Amino acid sequence: MNKPRKVEVKCFELNELGQGLVKIDGKVEAVSNLLPKEEAIVEINNDYKYQRVKIVRILKASPLRQEPKCDIYQKCGGCQLLHLNYESQIKFKRDYVINAFKQYKVNLKIDEIIRADKISDYRNKMQVAYRYKDNQIIYGFYEEDTHRVIPMTKCLVQTGIQNEIAKYVQTIMVKMKLPPYHEDKRTGLIRFVLVKEAFKTSQVMVIVVTNGDIFPGRSEFVKHLRTKFPEITTIVQNINTRQTSIILGDQERILYGPGYIEDYLCNIKFKISSKTFFQINPAQTEKLYSKVIEYAKFSGQETIIDAYCGVGTIGLILANYVNYVIGVESNKQSVSNAVENARENKIKNIQFICDDATEFIERFAKEKRQIDALIMDPPRSGSTERFLNAVLLLKPNKVIYVSCEAKTLARDLQVITKQYEIKNTAIVDMFVGTYHVESISLLERR
Ligand code: SAH
Repeated sequence: MNKPRKVEVKCFELNELGQGLVKIDGKVEAVSNLLPKEEAIVEINNDYKYQRVKIVRILKASPLRQEPKCDIYQKCGGCQLLHLNYESQIKFKRDYVINAFKQYKVNLKIDEIIRADKISDYRNKMQVAYRYKDNQIIYGFYEEDTHRVIPMTKCLVQTGIQNEIAKYVQTIMVKMKLPPYHEDKRTGLIRFVLVKEAFKTSQVMVIVVTNGDIFPGRSEFVKHLRTKFPEITTIVQNINTRQTSIILGDQERILYGPGYIEDYLCNIKFKISSKTFFQINPAQTEKLYSKVIEYAKFSGQETIIDAYCGVGTIGLILANYVNYVIGVESNKQSVSNAVENARENKIKNIQFICDDATEFIERFAKEKRQIDALIMDPPRSGSTERFLNAVLLLKPNKVIYVSCEAKTLARDLQVITKQYEIKNTAIVDMFVGTYHVESISLLERR
């Protein structure tokens, strides 16, 4: 064990993770919660792999600093930019995109930043872990880069009811003597609780993740929850006995209600089950999808591809504006959700294909089929060079690239700009308070 050492530092800039960079003994170190030009006393602990350098006290604060109203901010790491005022958060995200594009020497003009109207309680999904600490049941998120649960009572980006349900589960567990999970011993019952809330329909789903099939007193548990929160429309028990950091197991039992909730995005209804991926900030998602429509300027005659389509959200919304949509997605469950969503909404001019997007588009190009526009929304790792080369063969008039990682976006655009020009790019502040950046780019064939 090394003894922690205290030194005085001055921050010279922020890194990409929103941490302040300082020099200690000639070496650059990253410190969470420190802003450029701020001076602070920090503690260095060489035994830690993460967060080796931590703030003890800020000596000189930046005018850009705002006091996070969150009690667990220092430990949680979920919202990395909460100590930065909103305008500076936006600037941080803008700079991140500009730098990513510079790195790949792609010319970029950011036309617009779509700000969030809500900077707190914007998330429609909450997941918390339950554990014992000093013989008390606690719940909360994991401390950054660990499996240690930070005890909490409230998270500001979650809504009132999500926070209240998480807290009330703790009360029920005490009352019913239901033990929380013990990660090392793999004993106990309740591992996690997920709350999913449909903002448009006000439906609420609670998913209780248990360490085993047997859930003693489960009808009493359900009764407690429903009595306290009549807003809850469905409760699901998910069974996860594996020693893994994946939250949900394969097996499920519906304890109450239909086992899913429904929500609307741009007037299209979507079914959300325990494992369905659904954008976590629906208000900003609607703005993002409206931007896709604005950029695309469809005439109604087009055939388009929605690549990496998930549960079909973008394609189903666009179906009303074009002649035909082909959605492609590799996750089987998402594809069957997408098909069901099309049926539920009586949308007929769409088909979904379960395939790897690259394999699909290469085949499509080889068959010399034609499309007018391509919408792509790949995961953080971006698309592939083969996919992008196939796009160059396909020659759609427009490509609209929705991205959640500017670096892979810039890398991919480097390929596509051989034949396409970037007409517009907008940043959408989807994950307020965090360093995550969502953006949308319109490309047109030269
Ligand atoms: N457009 C959707 C989902 C975007 S998330 C929405 O807005 O909700 C990215 C999606 O890409 C995920 O659903 C993921 O399952 C899918 N995906 C990841 N790799 C893929 C691949 N190689 N081929 C096709 N889909 C892929």
